[in-house]
Amino acid sequence: MFFGCENLSFKYGNVEVLKNVNLEIEKGEFIGLVGYNGSGKSTLLKVMSGILQPYSGNVYFKDKTLDEKNRIKIGYIFQNPENQIIGVTVEEDVAFGLENIGVPREEMIDRINWALSIVNLKGLEHADPNTLSGGQKQRLAIASILVMEPEVILMDEPTSMLDPKGRNEIYNVIKKLIKMGETIIIASHQPSDLEEVNRIIALDKGEIIFDGLKDEFYSKNIIDVELPFKTKLEKELHFRFQKLVDELCQ
Ligand code: ADP
Repeated sequence: MFFGCENLSFKYGNVEVLKNVNLEIEKGEFIGLVGYNGSGKSTLLKVMSGILQPYSGNVYFKDKTLDEKNRIKIGYIFQNPENQIIGVTVEEDVAFGLENIGVPREEMIDRINWALSIVNLKGLEHADPNTLSGGQKQRLAIASILVMEPEVILMDEPTSMLDPKGRNEIYNVIKKLIKMGETIIIASHQPSDLEEVNRIIALDKGEIIFDGLKDEFYSKNIIDVELPFKTKLEKELHFRFQKLVDELCQ
């Protein structure tokens, strides 16, 4: 298995918030994780990135159980970028993780340049992160994860605190990451976040209630979510086209 979990359960104290979750994720998939507030999306992503422990069941990455060594390959992007930013400058912030694992200076510079160019923050290396816009801060948080060369990126409602401009900036980065073949799971309420997703996983009270293709999810009204613009347009056009065909064939 490239990435996934088996019989995964998690409790906060005595309260079980993930119940027997089973998931198999292939390399290069772009997946939307949906569910009402409190359904366990954030907890699932945190457990699967190794941030939250202990849990029962298993998380797998490349056929091995997740441990202190391989969890570095799973990147987690917080809902609020402020939780992730620690550097005094943009460059320092991106360098932080690399310094921790002792990457040589030359390689560090190359990797920082690469990550900042993907998120379009080149030129702001010496800026104070506090002076950045919301979208820029979230892009910085993404760069700090990308620089570690993760093989899976878990995004926890990454656009929910952003204005439409900031959201668009994040979509452009996500589109780039998809093209690069990254494996991404995005938890979201924003219909527009799910525009490019193929597969949807829906959680309810800590259990998976749907895991399948996006079109099937939206056609079944499994939970009450707003449709992404493209899906809405497709449905509307299909409906109008059908009406036209009916009229012409009368
Ligand atoms: P979602 O991301 O879908 O909104 P969460 O994973 O944040 O859901 O929350 C799942 C459940 O766990 C909710 O009932 C929430 O109140 C509870 N919960 C979340 N974080 C904590 C915590 N740190 N301590 C105790 N309960 C928590």
